[in-house]
Amino acid sequence: MPPKEDEYNDIWDLVRSSVSISREEFDRMVEEIYSKARAYLTKRAAALIVARNLGVDTSQVAYPPIIGRLIEVGPVRTSKSPRGETPYVLFSIVNETDRISCVAFGKHHIDLLKNADDKVLMLKKYTKAKLRKYTLVKVTEDSIIEILDDDKLPPITDLEPAWAESLSDLKEKRGTYLVKLLIIDESTTEYFACPICGKGLELFESDWICPEHGEVEPEVKKIWRYVVSDRTGTYPAVYFGEVSKSSLMNRLVILKGYFRNDELQIQKIYWVSEEEMIPSSG
Ligand SMILES: [Zn+2]
Repeated sequence: MPPKEDEYNDIWDLVRSSVSISREEFDRMVEEIYSKARAYLTKRAAALIVARNLGVDTSQVAYPPIIGRLIEVGPVRTSKSPRGETPYVLFSIVNETDRISCVAFGKHHIDLLKNADDKVLMLKKYTKAKLRKYTLVKVTEDSIIEILDDDKLPPITDLEPAWAESLSDLKEKRGTYLVKLLIIDESTTEYFACPICGKGLELFESDWICPEHGEVEPEVKKIWRYVVSDRTGTYPAVYFGEVSKSSLMNRLVILKGYFRNDELQIQKIYWVSEEEMIPSSG
């Protein structure tokens, strides 16, 4: 809820953290500005003017810090302008009430986001970008992304906006969400991966080549292929990560993933049921 127009405690907090001044003195300065232009100002606006005159950065008053867990980061893209090229990524955060779509510009932010999966982030000094259908939180190179202590928000599995209702709902949503499902088939194959980025390697003459890192010593990795199911349908799924049990067959699983065409791309597995839900025969 936005503060009332005669309240400015949040502005006082900003002033107090950067200027040595008493509350009485600050109130007096606010009254002075307010009394000069009552017809055009609220007390809150007067407090903003005083803060600005004191050299306080008030940008976060209009756009208060946003807190959320990082649920997804898209591929790195490049925006071209006459001033040069800037890399950017789309990402989303979730908290107890919202799922917020964001875009971040600059290598510094991208590197942080690439290593902050599920972490609690605080976005400050951002702006907003209007697209045709929705508004994005825009993290520019001057904005701040901070990683907060993990207990600042409940675990991601307890945040309702992180969830898709079902597999078909997840497929329609076209993003990364949590979903609960049953594994009804399982197989695994091995492939040669780049030890740095995990991408699949190509054999070129007798060298293993990563599309990003060139010639590398290959690492053998497993791909898990599943068939997953819930009340809305049955879909193939693929997973490149580690699995806590030797087999997930017939177990319920809570995972994070997204659909690419008709195939579920599993990003992370959070929970596997102890029991097999369907007795395996033989
Ligand atoms: Zn690589």
